[in-house]
Amino acid sequence: MSTYRERAHRQTARASVLRAIASRERSSHLSAPRVPTVGIDIGGTKVMAGVVDADGTILERVRTETPDKSKSPKVVEDTIAELVLDLSDRHDVHAVGVGAAGWVDADRATVLFAPHLAWRNEPLREALAARLAVPIMVDNDANTAAWGEWRFGAGRGADHLVMITLGTGIGGGILEAGKVKRGAFGVAGEFGHMQVVPEGHRCPCGNRGCWEQYSSGNALVREARELAAADSPVAHHILDRVKGQIGDITGPLITELAREGDPMCVELLQDIGRWLGVGIANLAAALDPARFVVGGGVSDADELLIGPAREAFRRQLTGRGYRPEATIVRAALGADAGMVGAADLARLVARRFRRANRRRAERAHRPAFDLRLTPRGWAGEQ
Ligand SMILES: [Zn+2]
Repeated sequence: MSTYRERAHRQTARASVLRAIASRERSSHLSAPRVPTVGIDIGGTKVMAGVVDADGTILERVRTETPDKSKSPKVVEDTIAELVLDLSDRHDVHAVGVGAAGWVDADRATVLFAPHLAWRNEPLREALAARLAVPIMVDNDANTAAWGEWRFGAGRGADHLVMITLGTGIGGGILEAGKVKRGAFGVAGEFGHMQVVPEGHRCPCGNRGCWEQYSSGNALVREARELAAADSPVAHHILDRVKGQIGDITGPLITELAREGDPMCVELLQDIGRWLGVGIANLAAALDPARFVVGGGVSDADELLIGPAREAFRRQLTGRGYRPEATIVRAALGADAGMVGAADLARLVARRFRRANRRRAERAHRPAFDLRLTPRGWAGEQ
């Protein structure tokens, strides 16, 4: 049986090893080559591709429409390949990072499922690597956005960070000690389908009361259209704006009217913001980050959304008053976060690829006796 002192010693040693690993991972992006890479963001309606330098500056961007869901996976690959080849006519491309809305496996090679595309267990990394002959990185778009905001946007300096993207639904990304947490199977961060209201609104995922049914662009538009369809007096202003066409009520229009002071639109954004704060309090209880970064189209409403979210978060936070509180801020990179983050994550792959090549080359050229005479530290690096 080990003594208390021995156990304590082992624990201290283990903690210092874990700290060393975390710090190496955290600094990996610092040692990545300062070369331009391409980031690709595959959204529901458009595919954006950009050449991004090591400081996060977009040197050039191109975009095209997302191929229809009915098209084969090959068509999407063709689209990505064309964009990259177009950009590589004018830029040196050292690696390509792809952020896709969907579930990407833990090896970041296969897209398990993508709601907007025909990808089902699609081995995207291999397929693209074979065609483009550069290292490829594939990740979930919320993860790439989280990384982009942490490196160059509103998340800078917060090594424990949660990114929430409010678009049609909710996307999520988690960074711990400056590293993306993807879970055992690669699909961590699907916050949108946490249940917040038992027996609440139906969700296309098959359950009821999911968070994104209360705090998302879809939720915002659904509530506004319901009020308009009921011919509520509070909806008369927005009905005038869309000339009675309820189907023309969109998230950006609601945000625009809220900025002009329309009471219904202000209130709808407050509701969305309150639900946002409730969900964020739950995430704080589980993950304890220092900062929440809120992005996605709905975040254009800025303080009209984030203000109520902060209030609800403080009311709801467990142990409030007895713990440091995370801050909630709006994302800084806007719609570019996913693309910039994908390019930057690809830079890590570019480094590994180049080093591996160099090592192979070194091994091929090194005389045999060198191996015997090398100092321990050097040999240990092999
Ligand atoms: Zn759901």
